[in-house]
Amino acid sequence: SMDAKTQTEQRRLHIAIVGGGIVGLITAMGLLKRNISVKMYEQSRSFREIGAGVAFTANALQCMARLDQSIVDAVNAVATPNGEIADKPNDHLRWHDGFHWDPSDIQGTDDKLLFTLYSGYKGFQGCHRAHLLDELVKHIPSDVVDFGKRFVDCEDGGDDGQPMLVRFHDGSTAHADAVIGCDGIKSKVRQLVLGVDNPASYPHFSHKVAYRALVPMDKVERVLGTFKARNQHMHVGPGAHLPHFPVAGGTLLNVVAFADGLEDWPLGDTHGVGNMTAPATREQVADVFRGWGPTVTSIVALLPDNLDRWGIFDTYDHPAPTYVKGRVCLAGDAAHASAPHHGAGAGIGVEDALALCMLLEKVQGSVDRVDKCAAVERALRIYDRVRRPRSQWLVQSSREVCDIYEWKHPGTLTSWNKCLAEITKRSHKLWYFDIDGMMAELESGWADNAAP
Ligand code: FAD
Repeated sequence: SMDAKTQTEQRRLHIAIVGGGIVGLITAMGLLKRNISVKMYEQSRSFREIGAGVAFTANALQCMARLDQSIVDAVNAVATPNGEIADKPNDHLRWHDGFHWDPSDIQGTDDKLLFTLYSGYKGFQGCHRAHLLDELVKHIPSDVVDFGKRFVDCEDGGDDGQPMLVRFHDGSTAHADAVIGCDGIKSKVRQLVLGVDNPASYPHFSHKVAYRALVPMDKVERVLGTFKARNQHMHVGPGAHLPHFPVAGGTLLNVVAFADGLEDWPLGDTHGVGNMTAPATREQVADVFRGWGPTVTSIVALLPDNLDRWGIFDTYDHPAPTYVKGRVCLAGDAAHASAPHHGAGAGIGVEDALALCMLLEKVQGSVDRVDKCAAVERALRIYDRVRRPRSQWLVQSSREVCDIYEWKHPGTLTSWNKCLAEITKRSHKLWYFDIDGMMAELESGWADNAAP
């Protein structure tokens, strides 16, 4: 007969996470916190993030707190709140008419404030991606991560409770009781779950492009003034929009200029996804915003000579019909790559992480009663059922909210009250997510399923 220690070891779950991006990292931290064994396989030689901003909304921060308070601490260590300015209310998102109605107005009348939306206390704080990554990585023990491991495929170890066999590009293999694909927009795990010939296995071009840059704040402040420079603003107009917010302790302004991408953006062959970025120049951005108002044109003038143009891809055209196959599941962009117009792609991935950690903790706590494989499969089916509607709504609403910003959504056009009502409704659905409701749904799904 087994001694108690061996029994505990056998019961213990071992999870493989594919991809060490933000969702993979946060999921790993949540699992470790729950005493679940985890190994993360990252294709790169080290953790990498781009030099650009990311902001988190209230729902993301609350889910982080439930996953592991250290995640919130990491965000707080690098987050830049909107500037505290005595006589003006902060923590608001502001939409300005960035488009210059009357090009003959050579005085360059300043843009008009169209509407504002309260985002909650420290509601939408910008982080420098690389800085956030550095903070998060401090909490990941080095033996949890294997670098240079590009996931190729995995297979079931048979139905007698054997772990799954995971294969990597370098010919090496690993075992795990469940595989979580956090391998981002070009996910290879998604191809395994949905099939290589399924268009839903690949992201598609949204026909928007983004020019991204970080601009030194001292230059910005001279041109925009302190208030605009240090608080989030969104400049909107036909066919384009330009949000900006401070990051890196207010030393840098994160600028994203969205424009139409009329031509196709080729992905290479159907089974691979080519480069989603291409070199661009400030002149190209200036062409997009020619004739816009003075704020936008002066921000564009501050951009570096050379910057990157990002093709915005998402899963809108071909949504995943499921996030799960057996003991393999998808989370974050791998499951639901979204255009970034709600600024919530990473945030909704944090919700996925919480759902998975909660369910896998249930599995680990129950495997003395039920078979481990079957328990994992049940948990993942519940995850899929609970998470898919909301995360796919984000993909859809992100496209629609872009149309609202760009004055072409049929229901809102240039009626600012209607725009505000629509943006408020959608933002609140994201920000004031009923996390307890999600947990209760997961809980009752588990209770139903675990019944003999
Ligand atoms: P990624 O960050 O893409 O990580 C995937 C990881 O998997 C990478 O490290 C990759 O190397 C690895 N990988 C890939 N394939 C394999 C493989 N086969 N084997 C092993 N490893 C592999 N979201 C917000 O919440 N707020 C914002 O303000 C915001 N702004 C945005 C602005 C823009 C312009 C864009 C494009 C997106 C924005 N987003 C924002 C969305 C956010 O960036 C993504 O949702 C988030 O980065 C997804 O994280 P992830 O961990 O799922 O994927």
